[in-house]
Amino acid sequence: LDLRSEDLQTISELGAGNGGTVSRVMHLPTKSIMARKVIHIDAQPAVRKQILRELQIMHDCNHPNIVSFYGAFLHESEISYCMEIMDVGSLDGICAKNGAFPMDVIGLITVSVLKGLNYLYTNHKIVHRDLKPSNILINSAGLVKICDFGVSGQLVNSIANTFVGTSNYMSPERIRGWNYGVQSDVWSLGITLMELALGRFPLDAECRSLTVLELLQHIVNEPLPTLPRRDFPEDFCNFVDIW
Ligand code: ATP
Ligand code: MG
Repeated sequence: LDLRSEDLQTISELGAGNGGTVSRVMHLPTKSIMARKVIHIDAQPAVRKQILRELQIMHDCNHPNIVSFYGAFLHESEISYCMEIMDVGSLDGICAKNGAFPMDVIGLITVSVLKGLNYLYTNHKIVHRDLKPSNILINSAGLVKICDFGVSGQLVNSIANTFVGTSNYMSPERIRGWNYGVQSDVWSLGITLMELALGRFPLDAECRSLTVLELLQHIVNEPLPTLPRRDFPEDFCNFVDIW
């Protein structure tokens, strides 16, 4: 499928993040509905072309728990990539609307995300790098899939140069600037699962008034967050404690 900007008609906005905006679009030649992410990057054309080449790896990432990739292209100074639309949306939105998730749904999410991460790492040596509720999506078939993983080192760099590239879900070793690997995704999954269980960011109670820098210092220096054991099954508390 050769995707071009002219062939895509925007239907509605799905959301915006640090680096880009995502909309629901129709691919006119095939009448198929897709999600299009547009990322504005102030970089040399050569850098943009490199990002585009790197994104092609996503064509090879085929797994039931990975959002399908349809293609990427450059348009003016923007990079776009199109992916499968996940019609129920991302976990942050669902959590904001419905509050904490029931345990059985958290179980399904956990297994699905781990299968997706395991596939990316064992088959493609890809570490996700940005696992968090907004990058875990659900569709009305009840499937849970992950998106926005770090296939393009150049894209990660370019976004980091353009925006303050921090996230509340970053592991201590990553914040410290040490080498990091799949273990960092495990940290992010733990924080994410705690958030889904509590219905709020797990460090929030103590950290509501912290600046970004203070939050990062807290993650690095303070004891690991844990769940209140009386409110959740023991297995689940133990599971999020082992990281
Ligand atoms: P960040 O930029 O920090 O990673 P983010 O993940 O919220 O944050 P985007 O990746 O730009 O930002 O996504 C914006 C929103 O678009 C997401 O929160 C999600 O709800 C929605 N979205 C992204 N991809 C899809 C998709 N394939 N199907 C449906 N909705 C999507
Ligand atoms: Mg995202």
